[in-house]
Amino acid sequence: MALGSKKTDLCVIVLALAAAPAMAADFPARHNHWRGGCAGVLSLDAGGAAFRQIRAKKQPHQWRWQWDDIQRLEIGGDGRVRVRTYRDSRVRLGRDVEYEFLLDGAPDLGPVYEILRPAAGARLAARLAAPGARLEWELPAKRIRKTGGVLGVLRVYEDRVVFAAEKPGESRTWPDPDIALLSSSGPLHLAVTPEGEQRSFEFQLRRSLAPERYERLWLRLESPRGLTLLNEGKVTAK
Ligand SMILES: [Zn+2]
Repeated sequence: MALGSKKTDLCVIVLALAAAPAMAADFPARHNHWRGGCAGVLSLDAGGAAFRQIRAKKQPHQWRWQWDDIQRLEIGGDGRVRVRTYRDSRVRLGRDVEYEFLLDGAPDLGPVYEILRPAAGARLAARLAAPGARLEWELPAKRIRKTGGVLGVLRVYEDRVVFAAEKPGESRTWPDPDIALLSSSGPLHLAVTPEGEQRSFEFQLRRSLAPERYERLWLRLESPRGLTLLNEGKVTAK
């Protein structure tokens, strides 16, 4: 038994080392300034994010952010990446310093999302559709917003909920632990409130959602919290 587990440990280490070079992804990108911008390379990896300006004459823009430095990292299907740090802005008093980048050619960030996600947790916001392993059901939907709706498909996978929008950058991926609240006011409505966000994402369903599907998803998302409540109840009952 002991030998077996040591072997497994070794295998895991070897695999991790072999996979290490592929864990970082470099993208030619533009750093957006108040006016204009600069060109460089944005790196995204399991340890965080980094940017280095290229062809700079003096004092190039160059940063490295570990996860502890990042409040929120947003990656979009439209190639837009935003890094919000904990540093206060001197220009805009009290506001957190945010950096915005635009990746050349809007590459597919789906594989990068899967690399970042385990280390980043809920601070990683995906404005893209990263499909899970197994699709449970899908429904055509429209995200309702004050500034005009977005058409797409709502997909429920075994471990996540995805809104695949027709417009790049409007999609969303929420792994189960990132969903704070799921609600519905009827078979043609679904609302998702992500963890750490004040707002909820409201969806008008273009086809009826079967009540048992909604219930199953609701239970799946609530069960970790529900079990805790049940145990607390038992303790109180004593
Ligand atoms: Zn710059």
